Amino acid sequence: MDDSKALFRITRFDDCRILHTDIDLDIINSIHDAFYEGIALASRELGLTEPMPYCTIYVCPNRVEYDLLVKYLTATPTNPGRVGQPQGSELYLLSPTAYGVDALPSFLGHNGQYDQPMFHRLIVHECIHMVEEQVRPRGAMEVVPAYWSEGLAIFFSGQHVEQDLLERMKADLDGGGVPPLSGLSGAATYVWGWTLVKFLIDRDEPDSLARFSRESGETSLATFLQVPEEEFEKAWRTYAEEAAKDVIDRCLSS
Ligand SMILES: [Zn+2]
Repeated sequence: MDDSKALFRITRFDDCRILHTDIDLDIINSIHDAFYEGIALASRELGLTEPMPYCTIYVCPNRVEYDLLVKYLTATPTNPGRVGQPQGSELYLLSPTAYGVDALPSFLGHNGQYDQPMFHRLIVHECIHMVEEQVRPRGAMEVVPAYWSEGLAIFFSGQHVEQDLLERMKADLDGGGVPPLSGLSGAATYVWGWTLVKFLIDRDEPDSLARFSRESGETSLATFLQVPEEEFEKAWRTYAEEAAKDVIDRCLSS
């Protein structure tokens, strides 16, 4: 049996409580700000009508404590590439003070340490997953394609304009172009999923994003839009290429 070595204290807010150690005392309010923003944003976009349940956020001071809590308190196997894990009304975060040694380079800012705006967007990202789980029928999150959930979280948190993703988009475009929908797995769900979300938003059909995001997860986007799969795929890939070129031109630092 593994034991936690960390001394957690609890800071309570109206909508959540945050368990953290002294090392993160100074950033608890900013963590709460990001949480509040993410839940409000996702509730609005995905049409959450019930109040969000009272949430618990664990801010783990290092990788050992993070892995311990995720392993014993969630149903998800821990993974060294992760720094945040939502489950129901709980959110597990690796303390940004540990990013320099315990997080992959893609989570770090230019100085090799944590970057406050990136950490803020990461919390918003995880909150979007939490609200999606609330608005969908029970069990739907297990069948929803990862590119849709990650697309929602990446797009609404604004992570699609971060350098790491822009570089990956550019590498794909310089290689074989936008991957087919069937190829959107693993890292590609983060790189390209947001273009599907934006594609649906830009069709400008009232509530379509919220309605599609509240389904059981078994209907394809093409079926939902009543468009043949092949026609949808062609239209989306053309759209995705333009959308990616646009953000690369505007936001990729050389
Ligand atoms: Zn995610």
